[in-house]
Amino acid sequence: MVIKPKVRGFICTNAHPVGCAKSVEQQIEYIKSKGDLGDGPKNVLVIGSSTGYGLASRITSAFGYGAKTLGVCFEKAPTERKTGTAGWYNTAAFHQFAKAEGLYADTINGDAFSDEIKAETIAKIKAEMGKVDLVIYSLASPRRTDPESGITYKSTLKPVGESYTTKTYDTDKDKVHDVTLEPANDEEILNTIKVMGGEDWERWMDQLRAADVLAEGCKTTAYTYIGKALTWPIYGQATIGKAKEDLDRAAAAIIGKNTDLLVEANVSSLKALVTQASSAIPVMPLYISLIYKVMKEEGTHEGCIEQIYGLFSSCLFGNTATLDEKNRYRMDDKETNDATQAKIQKLWDQVTQENFHEISDYKGYHHEFLKLFGFDIEGVDYEQEVDPLVNW
Ligand code: NAD
Repeated sequence: MVIKPKVRGFICTNAHPVGCAKSVEQQIEYIKSKGDLGDGPKNVLVIGSSTGYGLASRITSAFGYGAKTLGVCFEKAPTERKTGTAGWYNTAAFHQFAKAEGLYADTINGDAFSDEIKAETIAKIKAEMGKVDLVIYSLASPRRTDPESGITYKSTLKPVGESYTTKTYDTDKDKVHDVTLEPANDEEILNTIKVMGGEDWERWMDQLRAADVLAEGCKTTAYTYIGKALTWPIYGQATIGKAKEDLDRAAAAIIGKNTDLLVEANVSSLKALVTQASSAIPVMPLYISLIYKVMKEEGTHEGCIEQIYGLFSSCLFGNTATLDEKNRYRMDDKETNDATQAKIQKLWDQVTQENFHEISDYKGYHHEFLKLFGFDIEGVDYEQEVDPLVNW
């Protein structure tokens, strides 16, 4: 079939296998261009491995450090008539590139929140890897079924305390307008913590420990976004921010339970960029279009792979780490420093429907958005027939 993007609101409902493979290849080339990264992980488990920051972590582990990687993700396989999801094609491409270089790579596709998938993952680690020395936790999901109670919790993206009126950009209608977001009630806050907080990260680490598959000195990190004043009311100090605060609790708990193994657990704060997860958050498309403009002008623009390369080489496996007062690695300074934020704030105050395309980098945002699904990538002929049935 000939595959053209089908964009519906903040999501694209199909994906291009050749484009996804190209995008994975570009990230691999970036990591390889960094040369020998020195000592690093050997056996890596990436939970949320198929897109965004998790995929970049997997690529860095494998092609930067030569590590074996086991991924866990939740993706849809293609059929004769419908393409697979981007994460499906990314994973297929990753396996192929890894295999070509003799690197072990396997992926488990299923609900990472469930105990069944945890057990399957642990069995595979035991059989094929021995023990893991790095566990990346990079899930982004709107719901989670708690394996103990069987209850399915849904997260909400709402302010906490009081309602908040701000500007937003509707990608569907190409419209900048004001939006008022009503505050979450207590139940919504607790439900969001259940989904995106640290409970499941801790559960993974408990079960990996109980199965004796954590290597001594194993490192683990979960990703967060902290941001600054412009995004605090809808992110940092909102329902999702409350959930992310719970990651700090979980990190301390993981360290406490694994002192004999000298496990290092840190939350890592990364910059805002276009991923399937962030494009679903109100305000983010507008904010990201503006930071892309400012950071490209400053020469500090980075995507997932650049951020994760920095995290691995300077924090997780380097000695130039900056830990903040909550023991978090900070990779977000190029976005959140006062000078850059002041420039973004200035644009934010000016932006209207009329000047949006002129003063923002929505063009760059939209290109990155399409790229997430394998579209708008140089060197790919989108008029060509392609077989959607790609398998791992
Ligand atoms: P993403 O949507 O690109 O990736 C999410 C991953 O989780 C995918 O691999 C998906 O398959 C997997 N997943 C989702 N539900 C699953 C389930 N039930 N079982 C198994 N796998 C499942 O998201 P992302 O933006 O890369 O986010 C990853 C992490 O990074 C999140 O914790 C997010 O908060 C954080 N982060 C994102 C940004 C940003 O701007 N995008 C910034 C800082 C931190």
